[in-house]
Amino acid sequence: MDNFRALVADSNGEGQQPELTIKSLTAADLPEGEVTVRVAYSSVNYKDGMVAILGRMVKSYPHIPGIDLSGTVVESSDPRYKSGDSVIVTSYGVGVSHYGGYSELARVPASWVVPLPEGLTLREAMILGTAGFTAALSVQRLEDNGLTPDKGPVVVAGASGGVGSVAVNILAGRGYEVTASTGRLSEEAYLKELGAAHVIHRNELTESSERKPIRRPLWAAAVDPVGGKTLQYLLSTLQYGGSVATSGLTGGIEVETSVYPFILRGINWLGIDSVECPMELRRRVWERLGTDLKPTMLSSTIVNEITLEQLPQELSSILQGQVRGRTIVKIG
Ligand code: NDP
Repeated sequence: MDNFRALVADSNGEGQQPELTIKSLTAADLPEGEVTVRVAYSSVNYKDGMVAILGRMVKSYPHIPGIDLSGTVVESSDPRYKSGDSVIVTSYGVGVSHYGGYSELARVPASWVVPLPEGLTLREAMILGTAGFTAALSVQRLEDNGLTPDKGPVVVAGASGGVGSVAVNILAGRGYEVTASTGRLSEEAYLKELGAAHVIHRNELTESSERKPIRRPLWAAAVDPVGGKTLQYLLSTLQYGGSVATSGLTGGIEVETSVYPFILRGINWLGIDSVECPMELRRRVWERLGTDLKPTMLSSTIVNEITLEQLPQELSSILQGQVRGRTIVKIG
């Protein structure tokens, strides 16, 4: 591949949003790394919107965004990978401090590469992407902390987004009674198709001005990519010994709580980080995504597939909370 296409972000000056253009590049434009990958698919995450549209976290321009990619190795100076291997690359610096997946060709450090697990195709891996990995890691951590379906209902906040929708689907598939919380009740049918037993409006989970440190116990566990006042409310409504898996901040970063739910109900507040998740655990979670955690949504038609040209619009939409479920980008 002499020339290849990529979505390139260029600086428009300090404080300005970057400019996004599809450009033709050569392999010499790629950063250093041991493994060169012909990208098959990428995906759209909230973080991609923050990077590509708002220019957050980007250290230098030009930059190729895209925190997820799946594809085929074309060249590797690391003996663990050879030409023709199917691989996934997510997390670490990809798409943030290092060129990412919105590109027909990518070059990355070998230490960031995960072999495509048996049981997943390159397309399915990107339907999951960082959001799906984060949902699975949340479920794994909740179960490591004692969650089983007989313990009671599990609530998923931001349920119609990426992390939320995959979490609803995985949990329902494992026999949990799932309550999906959303700001978009118009997505009720979609959430029920994913397996939610109940769909509630996110206002029901948002701490009102009358803040209470502890409330009637409602949930055995919660998956929370929203944060803010939603997380405040979830902490106060977990059952005895319950856990919340915190992964995101779409609803805010400040959380006011008290020691009461911890010392009176023995709850667990679990932090979920996909970026620096150790490789051994990362591989185990990906392997589970191809086997016992494999979501049924992978084989349904409710996945949005777009092209490089459609990315700028989709990246803006995800920042406005308007994207449903997962969106994949067909690259190669
Ligand atoms: P999405 O935009 O796909 O989903 C986020 C959902 O949050 C929206 O769909 C919406 O769901 C809900 N939401 C949006 N705005 C608000 C608001 N103002 N108040 C309450 N809820 C809101 O994003 P992703 O799933 O890709 O990511 C979700 C979060 O998780 C982000 O903050 C992201 O940065 C974080 N994340 C963290 C990771 C980690 O490693 N810790 C990895 C991956 C993601 P609905 O309309 O149903 O209410």
